[in-house]
Amino acid sequence: VLTNYGFIGLGQMGQNMSRHLHSKLKPEDKLFVYDVNAPAITAALGNTKDHGHQQMYAASSVVDVGANCEVVITMLPEGKHVKAVVQEIVDLKKDSPTVFVDSSTIDIPTSQAISQLVREANAGEYLDAPVSGGAMGARDATLSFMIGREGPKLTDDRLQFIFDAMGARIFFMGKISSGLAAKLANNYLLALTNIATADSFNLARTFGLDMAVYAELVSKSTGNSWASATNCPVPGVKAGVPSNDGYKGGFATRLTRKDMVLACQSAESIGQPLFLGAIGKEIYDKACEREDLANRDLAVLYEWLGEMGGD
Ligand code: NAD
Repeated sequence: VLTNYGFIGLGQMGQNMSRHLHSKLKPEDKLFVYDVNAPAITAALGNTKDHGHQQMYAASSVVDVGANCEVVITMLPEGKHVKAVVQEIVDLKKDSPTVFVDSSTIDIPTSQAISQLVREANAGEYLDAPVSGGAMGARDATLSFMIGREGPKLTDDRLQFIFDAMGARIFFMGKISSGLAAKLANNYLLALTNIATADSFNLARTFGLDMAVYAELVSKSTGNSWASATNCPVPGVKAGVPSNDGYKGGFATRLTRKDMVLACQSAESIGQPLFLGAIGKEIYDKACEREDLANRDLAVLYEWLGEMGGD
């Protein structure tokens, strides 16, 4: 059966995710892409020039995606953006079902509200499918998807196709919004290991250690984490990571702060204490007062906290 897929949100993640989806489409399928930022659409179309088949089309609006597509993937900054997009499509297509796959990291109450609006309008299906693996995972199609979905695992081949095309692993977390619950718990840990890595690496540097050797040691030792090894924050140590390119691209500090806030809020709503939540949030709040830090990869905390140390 012919399927038209839609992809909305062509930022750090969406550019590469849509490229992989396009490269694996069946000959009869199409992909419509949209972003409020027009140059992002041009860039996404440019990404596909190496593939023999066309099949990727620039949509002119969210409504255009909705009118053309049966399956719509969103990769947007926050819940309010996802809800507005889903609402527009649901209003347009009252009785024809759409499958909405949201891979953004958003708050749980908004995700539940989106699920409810799709259900009440009898407009198809919504599932939360946030991802882990960062911009490098998107680039290499090695993302982990965390799925929140009622009912049996994946009975729809189109969903299996999407996750296989853009990722390497699928974790079924349970009912709607549980993919997001897993994502927020994970990103709380990431936000904190990123601060701890910055501190540890600044300590090592002030001790006068060779930072390339120290980074290699940590990656093979008990201090190892994604923040220290995969996303090594020290410039000049690892190829292909944001720290090697002025901390450009990657996972923005502003989005790390957003996830920290979401994790703290959701923990509070269920009465679960997060003992490092307040201090972690304060550090990201302070970093995000500076736009250059807010928009660069979270590994920039190594440089920023190092400067605050006065050396
Ligand atoms: P980004 O800011 O780079 O990209 C978001 C894109 O959405 C931008 O191109 C923006 O123009 C577009 N956009 C905003 N509002 C829109 C609207 N109403 N309609 C259409 N397009 C709109 O963000 P990103 O880093 O790609 O992250 C996207 C989501 O994925 C966030 O929720 C983030 O927390 C999550 N995430 C990011 C990473 C990462 O490493 N960057 C990893 C996992 C999850």
